Amino acid sequence: MNDVEIIAIGTELLMGETLDTNSNWLATRLPRLGLSLKFITQVADNKAELVDLLVRARERSDYIFTIGGLGPTQDDLTRESIAEVMQEPLDIDRGIESKLRQYFTERGMEFPIANQKQATFIPSSSFLINYHGTAPGWWVTKHGSHIIALPGPPAELQAMWINAVEPAIKNLLDDQVIVTKTFKTLGISESKLDELISELHSMGNPYIGTYAKADGVQVRLIAQAKTEEEAQAIIDPVASQLEVLLGPYIWGADDDSLEEMIMDILDAKKMTLSVAECVSQGYLQSRLNQVAGTESRFMGGFLISSNDALVRLGVKNDLLSKYGAGSVQVAEATARMAIKHFRSDVALSLVGNFTMDSIEVKMGTFYLCAIIEGKMLCSTMEIPLRKDIFRRRVAANTFLFLHRALTES
Ligand code: AMP
Ligand code: MG
Repeated sequence: MNDVEIIAIGTELLMGETLDTNSNWLATRLPRLGLSLKFITQVADNKAELVDLLVRARERSDYIFTIGGLGPTQDDLTRESIAEVMQEPLDIDRGIESKLRQYFTERGMEFPIANQKQATFIPSSSFLINYHGTAPGWWVTKHGSHIIALPGPPAELQAMWINAVEPAIKNLLDDQVIVTKTFKTLGISESKLDELISELHSMGNPYIGTYAKADGVQVRLIAQAKTEEEAQAIIDPVASQLEVLLGPYIWGADDDSLEEMIMDILDAKKMTLSVAECVSQGYLQSRLNQVAGTESRFMGGFLISSNDALVRLGVKNDLLSKYGAGSVQVAEATARMAIKHFRSDVALSLVGNFTMDSIEVKMGTFYLCAIIEGKMLCSTMEIPLRKDIFRRRVAANTFLFLHRALTES
């Protein structure tokens, strides 16, 4: 049994002022350790409420991760609350206290006496080093259950987790290995995908989960075993089956990203790329530009916000009035202009017949063209114009189109 819960502490979370990104981050790190997250709770900076929650959490969970409330101020009450639940006295660790004093002296500041409480401990606790701040974390073990108190600032929490907590948990659970494999698909709905893989659903190990994301549905396999080899052996045959069942829809796995795959092909072919995009708000270029080491392959591009801008770029006025901005003809002309200005080997263009302000439009038709060493390939796509997701949908489909065009060229 490795049931886990997360308690995020802070009145600002319940006031809606701070989004609880820490719990979310932590949740993504737990499955690979074989830990099964059961609850995420947010609680205010209120000792009675936190104590109440900790008592309940100890009854139902093997690992409790608290986040926040380790600061020096009056409303940081995590240590006091844990001490009360454990019915143990708080004491000051002189070694930690002198380190804290040194921290302030080195910065030419006087040691605020309020910070002394960051050096407190109880008999069941041990300190976790804070690599990015003053407040050490706590690991409290008693009667087989663990409370691990982590700091609130995300950089501090993440460094402490990766450097101190994760290795310790791996040690404790060394007979439990989790291996996961994620397939990334595009062009199929979650329900249709579910139907295609229905014969695999009765399996418990590996567990199969599907997740609809803005840029496609993902299928994740999670296998649990005593060794990595065993877990891998559980995953492999099911992964092969999935590849057969979902073949045409799968474009990648695990950490694959389409923009990185595109850059890899350009690297291999020693080709350069330029982009001209209307209606996607520069998102394609931003994503391409974020791939490490992009400079030599992705030359740059145009973010085009009006028909006038298209004309200034070099698209002929009569072509625009004849076919409209949302047309294959204009997409072709736009890609040609990108090639002309950047003299790249490959150009990608994306145009549409609307602006994002025309919210009355429910579906948008996008026209895209790729020119690869003089050869033109074009396509269209229909994407719902939901403000929150349309850019990711557009990028996924456009990048997949370019990736396929590059692979086939
Ligand atoms: P604390 O350790 O409670 O003093 O938290 C310090 C700072 O960390 C807060 O002011 C927030 O900016 C940030 N923080 C605390 N808890 C969270 C959380 N659950 N998610 C994201 N940020 C947080
Ligand atoms: Mg706080």
